[in-house]
Amino acid sequence: MATKAQAVDPVCGMEVEPEAALAVEYGGTRYLFCEAACAETFREDPDRWAQLEVAPGPSGTEW
Ligand SMILES: [Zn+2]
Repeated sequence: MATKAQAVDPVCGMEVEPEAALAVEYGGTRYLFCEAACAETFREDPDRWAQLEVAPGPSGTEW
């Protein structure tokens, strides 16, 4: 299989390679981050980030 599943860093919205990403488990879900700073931001307030829907694509998130 040539297609790799891309994950999205919920903090910064960047696409991350699952193999290269930092993983944090929260509420039974595994979240992937591009760098330690993003993972730390998530850990400080996981509820805030875990609520966000991780949707790929260029459409911005607006509230
Ligand atoms: Zn990030």
